Amino acid sequence: MKILVGAIGHESNTFTPFLTTLQDFHPRYGGDTLAPPIRHNAFGGIVATLQARGDVTLVPSVTAHAMPGGVVERRAFETLKGALLEAAHDVDGACIFLHGAMRAEGVDYTENDILTALRAKLGPDVPITIALDMHANIVAETARVVNAMVAYHTAPHDDAYETGVKAAEMLLHRLDGGRLAMGFAKIPFLLPGEKAETSVGAMREMMQLVADLEAQPGIVSASLMNGHCWADVPDIGVIAVVVTDGDETLAQAEADQLAATFWARRADFDFHTEAYPVDEAVRVAMNAPESTVFLSDSGDNPGAGGTTDVTAVLESLLRQGATNTVVAAIWDAAAVETCIAAGVGKRVSLEIGGKLDTRHSKPLPVTGKVRLISDGDYYRGGVREPHRLVQRGPVVVLTVEGVDIVLSANRLSIEEPAHLQSLGIEPLAYKIVVPKRGYLTTPLHVISPRSILAISPGVTNCDVRQLAYRRVQRPMYPLDEF
Ligand SMILES: [Zn+2]
Repeated sequence: MKILVGAIGHESNTFTPFLTTLQDFHPRYGGDTLAPPIRHNAFGGIVATLQARGDVTLVPSVTAHAMPGGVVERRAFETLKGALLEAAHDVDGACIFLHGAMRAEGVDYTENDILTALRAKLGPDVPITIALDMHANIVAETARVVNAMVAYHTAPHDDAYETGVKAAEMLLHRLDGGRLAMGFAKIPFLLPGEKAETSVGAMREMMQLVADLEAQPGIVSASLMNGHCWADVPDIGVIAVVVTDGDETLAQAEADQLAATFWARRADFDFHTEAYPVDEAVRVAMNAPESTVFLSDSGDNPGAGGTTDVTAVLESLLRQGATNTVVAAIWDAAAVETCIAAGVGKRVSLEIGGKLDTRHSKPLPVTGKVRLISDGDYYRGGVREPHRLVQRGPVVVLTVEGVDIVLSANRLSIEEPAHLQSLGIEPLAYKIVVPKRGYLTTPLHVISPRSILAISPGVTNCDVRQLAYRRVQRPMYPLDEF
């Protein structure tokens, strides 16, 4: 059997004031996508599961993953879609990873656009299954175009690989003569991921219902997608999908039931971390008895499209006299250049941040000492192997009074302690660590003695009522009360 495989992943924030380019995706094409080492992600799970079968030949197409950010340039989207479709001929099935929340210029629902074209090219009888992120914004039509879909079951996402495995297993089930039917239901709910972590609270209880359902005979998989709420597109919300081994009525009834339960509990989804407005969050962190507090700047989270140049939390820290604090990282190429020109140990006066997200931030004038200049090269996991190298350009550390500020020439997403350590920053040696993040990634969470979330301004503001939605269908909870 010949099976088309590929992966295109992007979470597009329509409030982010810049476009995402083809280069941002680091695309690989054709056979290069299967060259080792294949990462331990959904695509890795798909490939490993299919390769374990002696009777499968993989037909590679494209893999492309970009950091969450602004809407994708139309030309970049067409290039990636074209690469997937070009490989899609003479195959017996297709198993694809798509993030599920990618938008392009003029295309609100790119996954549906890609999959509709793929279905047209492969015809009605070739099965297609997809793996998705939990923060996917899928439309109902997609459920009619593909044979099955499954989304991550954890946030933070620790089961990407297993989700790929499941998508591949569902495809093989169908190719081996089994049946698949899918139910799809959606509720009008803008739900930030920070209120839907799967290890605590209402989302944990909802995921228990999913697990119970998946244990029932006849159920192949069930998924809840809390969506990507920072997308001002009409058709958005929380989604329930149930796949059965052929019973369409059961699939739809169970999806409807999951969605109805979610809707009934909508007021129960709240922050699981202590959450406060910016000034209060800083004050609580400064007065905390713990040796170190992680204070998340949640409104400017690059993990959901934040520009990382909003200065509100930094301004509050300096105004309130915080010391032994590190802020990581603010994207400001001009400030990095100024610091490099001055040199290590020199004092500089400059304005930092507030140059990209001018709607939610403004440049902050500071005077400080350049503590460190780095080429910014970083090995994922802190392991010095060539394929782990991430090159994002120069990074400096500027010390302003008691606050170490990491300034980057490109947008950084700090997801693990080793990244900070590569810049000479030992996070647990600080009283306050301010990552540009919403909920902490697992590697940051496990070392954090206490975690506080600042409900801060920016394009990933967790209080969605503070953002200027214009296109989403109304009524929409919690923009409207109902
Ligand atoms: Zn996600």
